[in-house]
Amino acid sequence: MRDRPSITALPVPRPSACPGLLRIVAALDGGICRVKLAGGELSSAQARAIAAASEACASGVLELTNRSNLQIRGVRDAAQDELIQRLLDAGLGPRVAGADDVRNLLLSPSAGLDPAALFDVRPLAAQLLELLQDTSDFHALSAKFALQLDGGEALAMLEHPHDLWLSALPGGELLAFGLAGCPVDGSLAAVERKQAVALVDTVLRLFLELASPEQTRMRQLLDGLSVDDFLQHVQARLPFQLRRDESVLGWRRVAGSSAIALGAQSQRQAGLQMILAAPPLGRFTAWQLAALADLAQRHGDATLRLTPWQGVLLPNIPAARCPDLLAELAALGLLLDSHEPLTHLLACTGSAACAKGLADTKADACQLADLLRAGTLRPQVHLSGCPRSCAAAHTASFTLLAQPGGRYQLYQRAAGMAGFGHLLVPSLSINEAGAWFAAQPESGTTHD
Ligand code: SF4
Repeated sequence: MRDRPSITALPVPRPSACPGLLRIVAALDGGICRVKLAGGELSSAQARAIAAASEACASGVLELTNRSNLQIRGVRDAAQDELIQRLLDAGLGPRVAGADDVRNLLLSPSAGLDPAALFDVRPLAAQLLELLQDTSDFHALSAKFALQLDGGEALAMLEHPHDLWLSALPGGELLAFGLAGCPVDGSLAAVERKQAVALVDTVLRLFLELASPEQTRMRQLLDGLSVDDFLQHVQARLPFQLRRDESVLGWRRVAGSSAIALGAQSQRQAGLQMILAAPPLGRFTAWQLAALADLAQRHGDATLRLTPWQGVLLPNIPAARCPDLLAELAALGLLLDSHEPLTHLLACTGSAACAKGLADTKADACQLADLLRAGTLRPQVHLSGCPRSCAAAHTASFTLLAQPGGRYQLYQRAAGMAGFGHLLVPSLSINEAGAWFAAQPESGTTHD
């Protein structure tokens, strides 16, 4: 952040259905303001500022997103300008006016901490975010156009497709990259780390030149243009050679466990731990966020990181302080035990606050968790109030898709099948869904 701008000096944001910090989008429960966080990180001071602003200007309900960002819900119409100014004053705005939408670079929440990482991606991530924000041409990218930088961390979201991803190859000096997919799909080519900024700059410029106004995402452009043709255009503009030898083309990022890690984990820094916790169904109250900020300050380095699993990571906790901190997090109502069914459920806002919702997905997810708690099965289930799938950028193992009347279709993810996968049951109440899972063998309903 260079200067902290005043709201009066900022341009009117372009129209979009996606909320931003400067573009508050209406919902049934009031406005939604989305705060994009570099690497999902915010300081304790910023967390307190968000908590205070959401209580003063909105409903005090905070929502974590699947891109490690945070949404303030229930913004009152008359308080929009005050909310935005408070967020800008806390240093949560973009580097330059007009760059709010383009701040879409996903990192592992354990970047720089993870013992498995091949290098610390944060300095390169800062360069890439500067490139995105400081290049005015890139402000024309869709608010959904997204990049991923993967340093080989064990704690990594490898299921969300990204328009452009970069992933460290063994040794950490080369970065494989791909378009409109995930690192587990295999790479198209690789560059040296020091060439990554030039590569991203070239790919994004080329995308903007070749895509029609209707083609806002890379996959749409590549529906009508071969990947090889696109790569040839990229190569023609680069002053260095893309690496496309067998070791690059044959490489695939190994997916980690799909189980969501919770609790304390060792960092690469001796004696320090990172603690992962989950607010139920990805929602905090302002009070909980302010209390978390205090805990991060008292026990750690006064920072918090949000995760793409709609959880939170507290970094740099001395090992001796972990038991106290874990107890305090549990007392705050955060989930720390992966056996708790709610930690495996995702639910969008649903009909309680979204006009498109056909079911109250959050309430139904709580009911489903109650039904699952009696047994040992812990299926990963995404409850979506409509096909837009706001809560999950990836396809969950199981999806309950709401239907008119508040019933659900049940889908199971299937390799090679688009959308939510294979339709298992065409119509279920939430109680019937609980009974369906209870009747399944454990091997078929945990993680695939
Ligand atoms: S998935 Fe549909 S119902 Fe759920 S929040 Fe998104 S638009 Fe609303």
